[in-house]
Amino acid sequence: MAKGAIAVTGTSRGIGAAIAAELKRRGFSVGCLSRAGGPPAGEDDDPAYHCAQCDVTDETSIREALQEVTTAAGGLIGVVNNAGLHKESKSSTLATAEFEELMATNATSVMTMCREAYPHLKAAGGGKIVNIGSFFDKIGVPRNLAYCASKAAVGAITRCLAVEWARDAITVLDVAPGYILTDINRDLMEDDKFRGWIESRSPLRRPGDTDEVARLVAALYSEDIPFLTGETIYIDGGQGMAI
Ligand code: NDP
Repeated sequence: MAKGAIAVTGTSRGIGAAIAAELKRRGFSVGCLSRAGGPPAGEDDDPAYHCAQCDVTDETSIREALQEVTTAAGGLIGVVNNAGLHKESKSSTLATAEFEELMATNATSVMTMCREAYPHLKAAGGGKIVNIGSFFDKIGVPRNLAYCASKAAVGAITRCLAVEWARDAITVLDVAPGYILTDINRDLMEDDKFRGWIESRSPLRRPGDTDEVARLVAALYSEDIPFLTGETIYIDGGQGMAI
């Protein structure tokens, strides 16, 4: 296994915490980047975790956090851009500030993190970036214009970087989940009507687990398939393609 950390953003809870724990379980060093700066939720401090404070909307914070985990782990071999924000509003009254907040947190942050990670990955002889998108990137969802646009941007950033950085042995993928029960949607998921709707719309008749997303992301690092790059891989129980 190459020496260095895989930096994961938004490890304080939800999908990011599960990804960090699964990468550690498979023997990777993990750079846990979060606003709180501690180990992933539900995990003790561990020598495999290199924790750093990071607000993904602040490029100085990104630069310093990446430097900190790279120095601590002796290199950087990957980045998982997981931190994200969901808000919904009617498009007819959507505030420009809310649109820009979602774009900044979900899309601009991905570009900045990748750009700042690039010299470290190049120094390591290559690496793998996994961006966490959403199956909302390809469907029209009422009251979700800003979130959908931000996740479509993640797919576009992934494709452009995959093409541009292939010569540097850096692969870039977009893992796009369907509904996964976390804090981002807990209120909605606990609503009986919405839960019933998910059960009727999803071929698997349930939302996904954070572990399922974490195992897919970690498998992409464990398997390390250089010819797989630029793709958006949906993990949504088939919901996005079902009629
Ligand atoms: P959670 O709300 O449970 O967690 C969001 C994470 O993002 C937290 O760790 C939060 O940190 C972090 N975060 C938010 N803003 C910032 C910021 N400015 N700087 C640093 N960290 C930040 O959400 P999920 O785990 O569900 O979501 C993770 C990713 O998966 C997101 O990109 C989301 O869009 C995507 N996704 C989720 C789906 C779902 O159904 N759950 C479906 C499809 C995609 P803090 O604790 O500091 O707030």
